[in-house]
Amino acid sequence: HYPLAGKRVWVAGHRGLVGSALVRRLAATGCELLTVDRQALDLRDAVAVEDWMAERRPQAVFLAAGRVGGIRANAERPGEFFRDNAAIATNVVHAAHLAGVERLMFLGSSCIYPRLCAQPMAESALLTGPLEPTSGAYAMAKLAGISMCAAYRRQYGRDFVSAVPANLYGPGDNFDPEAGHVVPATIRKVAAAKAAGSAVVVWGSGRPLREFLYVEDAADALVFLMERYSEEAIINVGGGEEVSIAELTALVCEAVGYDAPLAFDDSMPDGMPRKRLDSARLQALGWRPRTTLRDGLAATWRWYREAGHG
Ligand code: GDP
Repeated sequence: HYPLAGKRVWVAGHRGLVGSALVRRLAATGCELLTVDRQALDLRDAVAVEDWMAERRPQAVFLAAGRVGGIRANAERPGEFFRDNAAIATNVVHAAHLAGVERLMFLGSSCIYPRLCAQPMAESALLTGPLEPTSGAYAMAKLAGISMCAAYRRQYGRDFVSAVPANLYGPGDNFDPEAGHVVPATIRKVAAAKAAGSAVVVWGSGRPLREFLYVEDAADALVFLMERYSEEAIINVGGGEEVSIAELTALVCEAVGYDAPLAFDDSMPDGMPRKRLDSARLQALGWRPRTTLRDGLAATWRWYREAGHG
């Protein structure tokens, strides 16, 4: 057991969807929280990261920083997604090693599993087949980070672990309709369609299945694992509801209060047909999500409106 109370804990990526939820969740642990803005520290700069870590000496690190985006951003800018995520992973993990960090949690993504993976996707299915091409560069960078954590555990005895979350959504997400993930993009599109009285255009066929986990639940699981999990093997963080993209769109329409006519844009990619995580290992440790998709979408819509967007 590794209680975070009294520890200096760095959340790398504290302004992001997961990082900001981690900051809220960590307030209840009695840890000493460390954060640094991207203007003050570029995580792609190895020397700067090593200097910052040597000075601030975190004991535990949540590596929640990265370049993230939806299916379109990933497909159009694979170079940036690879470079930024690979650099952040290698710099932060190596600097954590040099600074003697006691425990580090690296965050993967469910797109690291093969495109046609057996469902639900168990941790043992890693690297058993080709990746989904729309997110392949991002997934490769995440696989590099996972491999590095395992390698530093073996060679240097470092307590670095990798967790693999399901598709996350919630307050603080990127609601850009072009670059964002499907939940925030759909909230934004349905809100705009409601204002205009128009139809909502869903990318792809609407048939792909996705497992969505509310980010406050995900942050709770990550803190739970940081305090209890210390193995080389990756661990899935899911247990959320699985719905089709068409069903998700209907749930967002319900949350926003607009019965939108739907149109499907077949020129846009579907991505993986299905990516449900097998979260049996996490459940066996005693963790389960609390928030239903309906409640989580309602809370996310409320946050979006209160933040002055909708
Ligand atoms: P993925 O889980 O890695 O595929 O990432 P996304 O969250 O970007 O997309 C999930 C699914 O939602 C894909 O099948 C998309 O084609 C579909 N989708 C439908 N409408 C949208 C949209 O407006 N934005 C995004 N990002 N995806 C959409």
